[in-house]
Amino acid sequence: MFKAVLIEKDDAGYRAGLCELDDAALPEGDVTVRVEYSTLNYKDGLAITGKGPVVRKFPMVPGIDLAGTVEASSHPGIAVGDRVLLNGWGVGEGHWGGLAQRARLKGEWLVPLPAAFTARQAMAIGTAGYTAMLCVMALERHGVTPDKGEVLVTGANGGVGSVAVALLARLGYTVVASTGRPDEADYLKALGAAEIVDRAQFAAPGKPLARERWAGAVDTVGSHTLANVCASTRYRGTVAACGLAQGMDLPATVAPFILRGVTLVGIDSVMAPREERIEAWSRLARDLDPARLELMTREIGLGEAIDTAAALLEGKVRGRVVVDVNR
Ligand code: NDP
Repeated sequence: MFKAVLIEKDDAGYRAGLCELDDAALPEGDVTVRVEYSTLNYKDGLAITGKGPVVRKFPMVPGIDLAGTVEASSHPGIAVGDRVLLNGWGVGEGHWGGLAQRARLKGEWLVPLPAAFTARQAMAIGTAGYTAMLCVMALERHGVTPDKGEVLVTGANGGVGSVAVALLARLGYTVVASTGRPDEADYLKALGAAEIVDRAQFAAPGKPLARERWAGAVDTVGSHTLANVCASTRYRGTVAACGLAQGMDLPATVAPFILRGVTLVGIDSVMAPREERIEAWSRLARDLDPARLELMTREIGLGEAIDTAAALLEGKVRGRVVVDVNR
């Protein structure tokens, strides 16, 4: 038997609860993992609360991330005792996920836990942090170097935002953090932000073009915010778009793209190819200051995941939450 968060949907409604499950209930897969830590991302919040159509099969164990030790494997190249981590691939959406003490998965989804990280640190990073790294790599690929000027991070107090601020600052960029929580300015400065701006300036419909300011941007917010960020990006700058915390719409014009040569890069972590994941994790090992990671991390037990998921969607969680599935 193992403990898990379980989401059910039936005549009694949509609900998540903590329960004990039999190993025989685990889904198909060629690797069984003894999970040590999982985490809460925005998508886990949507899944647990039912506020977004994330879960595609019921009952479902949520948790798009996990880290732990291989307990059984018939997958070539993965042996009992291997330390592994998993991000995405539809796990926690269509296949039972990481908010449980045990998981059965496809071996091809697993990445070796980098030697630089404990399972807890890997989950403090989680999909949010790995996505932030994918965004930084996209900016680099498009020639956004620290000497080009200021880089904006929206949703800066969130998980993706916090890691993006810390990474970019460590790499030498001048980071401007956009947030709706100006009272967290000290926290954002401790992560490396040079300046804090109020997210209200991006939130409402704006002009097709605004004053050129950002050499690059990491946007976790979407909607009018993303439109306004593109409109204020400098000639030939790049915006990496990964989120929709304000909305899924993009009420923009083509003006920034055809008049200023701005590049809008889409970032998807869920189905990203394995080589890119391995590269992102090795970059995280190199470029993320462990002290800053600890500063942005709070730990909870499995039983607290359900209440914390609701708080996360309400924008009340700062940085990252790791879940110790064994307490
Ligand atoms: P968090 O909830 O941790 O952070 C989201 C942040 O967005 C909040 O902390 C808040 O920051 C800001 N925010 C919330 N609501 C609004 C709003 N109405 N208007 C403007 N800003 C708002 O989530 P994550 O960091 O885990 O994820 C961020 C986004 O990225 C989500 O939309 C998520 O779905 C997406 N994502 C996408 C991935 C991909 O593969 N493309 C992977 C991971 C995440 P503040 O308080 O500082 O304003």
